[in-house]
Amino acid sequence: MPHFASPVRSRLPTVGTTIFSVMSALAQEHGAINLSQGFPDFDAPAELLDALDAATRAGHNQYAPMAGMPVLREAIAAQVEQVYGARYDAAHEVTVTAGATQALFTAIAALVHPGDEVIVFTPVYDSYAPSIELQGGKVVYADLAPPAYRPDWAAVKALLTPRTRMIVINSPHNPTGGVWTAEDLQALADLVRGTDIVVLSDEVYEHMVYDGLRHESVMRHPELQARSVVVSSFGKTCHITGWKVGYALAPRELMAEFRKAHQFIVFTVHTPSQVALAEFMQKPGWHAQLRALYQGKRDIFRQALASSRFELLPCQGTYFQCVRFAAISDEGDRAFAERLTREHGVAAIPVSAFYPDARDHGVIRFCFAKSADTLGRALERLVTL
Ligand code: PMP
Ligand code: GLN
Repeated sequence: MPHFASPVRSRLPTVGTTIFSVMSALAQEHGAINLSQGFPDFDAPAELLDALDAATRAGHNQYAPMAGMPVLREAIAAQVEQVYGARYDAAHEVTVTAGATQALFTAIAALVHPGDEVIVFTPVYDSYAPSIELQGGKVVYADLAPPAYRPDWAAVKALLTPRTRMIVINSPHNPTGGVWTAEDLQALADLVRGTDIVVLSDEVYEHMVYDGLRHESVMRHPELQARSVVVSSFGKTCHITGWKVGYALAPRELMAEFRKAHQFIVFTVHTPSQVALAEFMQKPGWHAQLRALYQGKRDIFRQALASSRFELLPCQGTYFQCVRFAAISDEGDRAFAERLTREHGVAAIPVSAFYPDARDHGVIRFCFAKSADTLGRALERLVTL
């Protein structure tokens, strides 16, 4: 085996393996039901799989254009216009990416300079801070306090400095399932007015909003739209997290910079998937079914746990349900999540993993994007605790 003899000067000295990989591996090791990492255990629609097969056989197997297959960019632009009334030019303002992760990374790489400050909200999705730090940016944390995890706009305002270059937002929110309101977007717009701050809006759960709520995309707010890079993912919307196809939308000036970085980070994305997704998106209302599908699963999950010793936190969107476990154990959330996996056969994510200081509120996150059978078996175990 080769051996690098010098000390490695890490660019990310405090980063270990992501909690999603750690908990999925632990679930596998112990044969536990995996409600940790966020992915469905049911398959993508058959017509999408057929379209992928057809695309490979029709010869769509070489590099796509750098910004993505035009047919897919046009389908994305048409959809956001239909859903949010937002206009984007498919030629210059839409780019297909290797999942939302790459879109987020690329936006940060393209727009954050060394020494720039970037505000993120804790609990925070795990890829944001390392992506910022790799560019030499400084991460500034605003808190979404439990149990409601609502933004405190006065506190955010106090974090703004002349070095603030970007604010990263995520609604519907992973891990809390919180959904921002139109008032939140207005507060954000009021804060950044007159600055050159870019909003990076992670909207991967855009179609998973429940109880009649509406997803308040920055694309519905023209003032914010004009300073935002919006990111979404087909992984969530089409049950294909393994395909790693997502996209970014931004005004032309921002997208031009985004593409400069994109062309050297991935250059292009898997061609046949793009052709298949473009065809699938022609199906009217294909994404509208997600709301009923996941609201149904959320309700089954919540109803079963309501009589348990877990305390359910609100869940207005995403496919995650957070719970407090204080009535069951006084362990730290990580120790509890690990023991739940090992001894009770259900894996979850400790929410302290979403804090830079591993702050522990005694909360774990379950993913309910699972078949009725998987959910039923997991719930049978959880209600006995
Ligand atoms: N942002 C959030 C909030 C997510 O939850 C995820 C994945 N679960 C991503 C980004 C990454 O999406 P992708 O798998 O398309 O890279
Ligand atoms: N986003 C998914 C989650 O929150 C996991 C993605 C990953 O494993 N990196 O569970």
